[in-house]
Amino acid sequence: MSHSFKLFRLQQINTLLDKGHAKLKEIDRLLVDDHQVQMSQQRLDQAKNARYEADKNLRMAEQNVIEQRLKIERSQASLYGGKVVNPKELQDLQLESEALDRYLTTLEDLQLEAMLASDEAEAKFLEISDQHSAVLTQDIEQKDELTANKAELIQDLERQESEREAAAANIDSPYLQLYEALRLQKNGIAVARVLDKTCAACGSTLSATTFRSAQVPTKLTRCTTCGRILYVG
Ligand SMILES: [Zn+2]
Repeated sequence: MSHSFKLFRLQQINTLLDKGHAKLKEIDRLLVDDHQVQMSQQRLDQAKNARYEADKNLRMAEQNVIEQRLKIERSQASLYGGKVVNPKELQDLQLESEALDRYLTTLEDLQLEAMLASDEAEAKFLEISDQHSAVLTQDIEQKDELTANKAELIQDLERQESEREAAAANIDSPYLQLYEALRLQKNGIAVARVLDKTCAACGSTLSATTFRSAQVPTKLTRCTTCGRILYVG
C-alpha cells in the first residue's frame, strides 16, 4: 500500500468525520432553537390581549347603554311624575328626554359594534390558539427526530473515529505529522486526488514530472500550487 493511498484513506475518513461533526453542531443548534415557538407565543399573546381589550370595550359599551336607560327612566319620571307643572320646564324636560333617546340609539349602535368586534377577537384568538398548539406539536416532533438523528450520528462518529485511529496507526509518524499540519493549513483537506493529471483540490494541472513522481508508491509528492499531498488512484 503506497504512502499516498494510506493518507488518502485517512483523509476520506477525516472528511466524513468533519462532515459528521458539522452536522452534529447543526443538530445541537436546532435542538435549542425555539424561535418558531417564541414567535407563535407572541402571536398568541397579542391575540389574547386583543380579546381582552375587545371584551373590556364591550363591557363599557353595555354599561353606557344601561346608564343611559337609567337616565331616560329618571327623565321620564320627572316628565310624567306630575311634580313639574311649569310649561317651560316641562318643555325643557321633553327636549332633554328626546335628546337622551337619540343618544341611546348611538350608544346601542356602539354596543353592537363592540359585540361584533368582541366576537371577531374571540374567533381570532381561538384560531391562533389552534395554530399555536400545532406549532408546539410540530416542535416536539422535530426535536424528537433530531434527538434520534443525533444518537445515530454519534454512533457513526464513534465508528469512524475507530477507523481513523486504525488508519492513522498504519502511517509513518513524519507523514502523519505532515498530514495533520496540512489539514490545519488547508481547510481540512491535506490529500488531493489527481484526476486527469489535475489536482482535484486546487484545479491546477500537474507538470509531467510532478505527475510521474506522484505515481511512485514509495514517494510522497505534493502539489506545486496548493502544497497538498497528491494521490493518483
Ligand atoms: Zn493543488
